[in-house]
Amino acid sequence: MAKHTVTLIPGDGIGTETTAAMQRVVKAAGADIEWEVAEAGAHMMESCGTPLPESTIEAVRRNKVAIKGPITTPVGTGFRSVNVALRKTLDLNVCLRPVMSIPGAGGRYSDVDLVIVRENSEDLYAGIEFEEGSQGAQDLISFCAEQGAGTIRSDSGISIKPISVTATQNIVRYAFDYALKHGRKKVTAAHKANIMKHSDGLFLRTAREVAKEYEGRIEFNDNIIDAFCMNIVMDPSQFDVIVFPNLYGDIASDLCAGLVGGLGIAPGANIGPEYAIFEAVHGSAPDIAGKDICNPTAEILSAAMMLDHLGELEIAANIRNAVREVYAQGAVLTADICKATGSSVEPATCSRFTDELIAVLER
Ligand code: NAD
Repeated sequence: MAKHTVTLIPGDGIGTETTAAMQRVVKAAGADIEWEVAEAGAHMMESCGTPLPESTIEAVRRNKVAIKGPITTPVGTGFRSVNVALRKTLDLNVCLRPVMSIPGAGGRYSDVDLVIVRENSEDLYAGIEFEEGSQGAQDLISFCAEQGAGTIRSDSGISIKPISVTATQNIVRYAFDYALKHGRKKVTAAHKANIMKHSDGLFLRTAREVAKEYEGRIEFNDNIIDAFCMNIVMDPSQFDVIVFPNLYGDIASDLCAGLVGGLGIAPGANIGPEYAIFEAVHGSAPDIAGKDICNPTAEILSAAMMLDHLGELEIAANIRNAVREVYAQGAVLTADICKATGSSVEPATCSRFTDELIAVLER
């Protein structure tokens, strides 16, 4: 088995706990990984003056593959999201989030098996914003009025939503190619093209064009995002691969995680032409950080995705199987899953859950 060097960004909040658990599991599964630890997050502000030091970006460039814990983003004010900055800087334009039922994890359904493909670089996440009262906001308000594009109140803050043909073609092709490669049958594009004709409308039009290249091989349909939310909650089995613009993909990720037992078990990856960063869907969960009670499964399943990416398919499969076995047994479950399942077992700590998973792996 090959040796791999991987950049590990522990992040903050529960990130240090989930990534430590993940490292233990990956080691126990027999993967030969050298971890190069690189820091990012609010705790770097004092020493580096930025939450995302250049050395961390360099470390990802050097190793090409990274796995990270979540990083807190101040709400409303303060520095911009480190996660978004990493995705933009490293051109990680695909966010891939498989959503799969794990029997015993407390999902609303027992047979969910779908894949979220989220565009990762544009939309309202582009970070083009004008603060209320700023010259930029005033100029933009005047420009819109001059163009006859509409009236914006003078005390407005403005976030711009760009969606390009180029990025949409890339993400929709990725969704179709993923479907082909993984034996999936259908791609659904979710949008709000009826209201935002020049951004979501372009997304839908472009998706339909790309879909023609796959006609006869992969089925295609589309859903308006609000209808999609209802449809997926009512019957997730009608979906297979779903491709989203950035913001809807973010929201739908948590919605879909909720169908299968919650954020504690939802893995993900950010993938670009050169680099890939694997990370759980969940955030830094400040409400439970530092207590050793978080669920490390999402980070561990993100590591399984990373191992697939590195060609270590058997080790990845062993980890997934061990996870399924621990949940099927139902004796050692973290608090989030006890709540989701209504289990009466004493909630296990993150460390205890990890010990159990390693014991199953070693059997
Ligand atoms: P969150 O995902 O951190 O937490 C939402 C809820 O889910 C909380 O009740 C939390 O306790 C629970 N939860 C999340 N992960 C869990 C786990 N592994 N085990 C058990 N329970 C878990 O979302 P939030 O509270 O909206 O965000 C907190 C911070 O994380 C914010 O600063 C946000 O910007 C950031 N965030 C970062 C990322 C990332 O780094 N990729 C992603 C999402 C949010």
